[in-house]
Amino acid sequence: MTARAAYLASFLIVTSFLPTSSSHSHVPAVTDALDIVSKISTEHDATIKASMDFGHIVRAIPSGVFHPTSPSDIAALIRLSLSQPKPFAVAPRGRGHSARGQALAVGGVVVDMRSLHDHDHDHRAGHGRYRMNNAVPGAWVDVGGEQLWIDVLHATLEHDLAPRVWTDYLHITVGGTLSNGGIGGQAFRHGPQISNVHELDVVTGTGEMVSCSPGKNSDLFYAALGGLGQFGVITRARIALEPAPRRVLWVRLAYSDVRSFTSDQELLISKRPAGGCGSGFDYVEGQVQLNRTLTEGRRSSSFFSAPELDQLARLAVATGSAAIYYIEGAMYYDDDTTTASSVNQKLETLLEELSFVPGLAFVRDVSYVDFLDRVGRDEQKLRSAGVWDVPHPWLNIFVPRSRILDFDAGVFKGILKGTRPVGLILMYPMNKDRWDDRMTTATPDEDVFYAVGLLRSAVAAADLEQLERENAAVLEFCHREGIGYRQYLPSHASLDGWRRHFGEKWSRFAALKRKYDPRAILTPGQGIFFSAG
Ligand code: FAD
Repeated sequence: MTARAAYLASFLIVTSFLPTSSSHSHVPAVTDALDIVSKISTEHDATIKASMDFGHIVRAIPSGVFHPTSPSDIAALIRLSLSQPKPFAVAPRGRGHSARGQALAVGGVVVDMRSLHDHDHDHRAGHGRYRMNNAVPGAWVDVGGEQLWIDVLHATLEHDLAPRVWTDYLHITVGGTLSNGGIGGQAFRHGPQISNVHELDVVTGTGEMVSCSPGKNSDLFYAALGGLGQFGVITRARIALEPAPRRVLWVRLAYSDVRSFTSDQELLISKRPAGGCGSGFDYVEGQVQLNRTLTEGRRSSSFFSAPELDQLARLAVATGSAAIYYIEGAMYYDDDTTTASSVNQKLETLLEELSFVPGLAFVRDVSYVDFLDRVGRDEQKLRSAGVWDVPHPWLNIFVPRSRILDFDAGVFKGILKGTRPVGLILMYPMNKDRWDDRMTTATPDEDVFYAVGLLRSAVAAADLEQLERENAAVLEFCHREGIGYRQYLPSHASLDGWRRHFGEKWSRFAALKRKYDPRAILTPGQGIFFSAG
């Protein structure tokens, strides 16, 4: 008997005892079960591919990989699991771009969400899984949870519309980012991606397909947004749209001093008139450049030219400090003559308010798509250099504004001072009032908090241990110093860690888990709940 046949048989032995049709919704008919089992691949290549993620740190081999052709297939798979004396785990996998095994399921079944896309032949035509309401204001698009944001961008641009908030990298799925939060440089104004969703379709851990919104099954709606895949599989999201700009002035401003850097960032995120653009940037992020990156690291950048990198290296040496900083801003505009001429004036006026190092403002004029897909281009370069598929021990944390200078002193000028430069460090503030506290994602308890991303790669095998030690030291520092931080894209080794992570939200989180996934079969790779069988 082949492995696949044995695997199928393991279900059939159970299901053959079941009636061919049943009034009990959790018990699939044998024919349905056969159809579902036939969509589970147990091929070695498929299970090995689904045993790893972008992080390359955790490995967990599933028994099979499920290729649904419709959301109802996912519901049927979950019901099949529940019909077993010992249910198997079910883990939705978008692009598998998590860093610590969050989309893996050792011994369970990984749902390859992208199969839904492969079976959706209508999506390019603007219907299928891209239903749209074009009326502005109030425009939205319905997208499948399996869709890549880059595809959502292109589909909506056909109507001169686009979602309002973007992650830095677009080759990841709608379901994957909405299960976490989805943050980026537009979040200061519009909140994270989860604050820009009107409705969801979710297949719950009880195998039911439920539509939810703030007005309908709202507990599931708020639970699933940022819910780490614990309550159900998101199969559709209705995303708010705005008129899409055509072009972007993409700006980097260098700082040698963290106080000027953060106070300018905070000034920029306070410029956010209701309803859209105003006098500030439409996008605000920032980076910390450890000086060794400039003086000893790889001397290439997709943004800076070689002479500009030399200028920055000179600044790094002159400051004598461990780090310099850049604000990254973007100003949207349309390419008609009037807007194009006024945007430069608007930028000039804005720059006059800021305290970057004189002469170190760098401006690029790019298309909106090129701006949004900038990390996609970096990916191609990193792939060519053979440094994309390497371990990524990423650590993302939200740090309250009141402690960001302590964090800077302890981490960038302390723990990471003089360490080997291996990757990117992001640091930018967001406004808490753009987050809805009913949603699951945990955030610090302050009006403004910073997203700090230590996005580092272990290019050499020995780097991984060192980077993990540094991550542990950073967390230990935050803990010791009482910095009320929260992890983003969280990973905790113990239930206590998760309780602390969710804080006041924990009891609600656990109660909703009991309601929507009572046998804890969904998304075991997050390591929060474990099925008791
Ligand atoms: P997966 O890794 O496949 O899944 C993530 C989690 O969600 C898993 O637990 C999975 O089981 C669950 N899940 C997947 N699909 C569904 C679904 N349909 N319904 C319910 N649960 C589901 N994040 C940001 O917020 N901002 C950024 O700027 C940003 N930049 C990034 C840049 C790069 C290069 C990379 C690799 C990641 C970045 N991320 C960023 C993190 C990214 O948003 C998350 O890792 C996201 O989960 C990846 O999406 P995915 O489709 O690969 O999800």
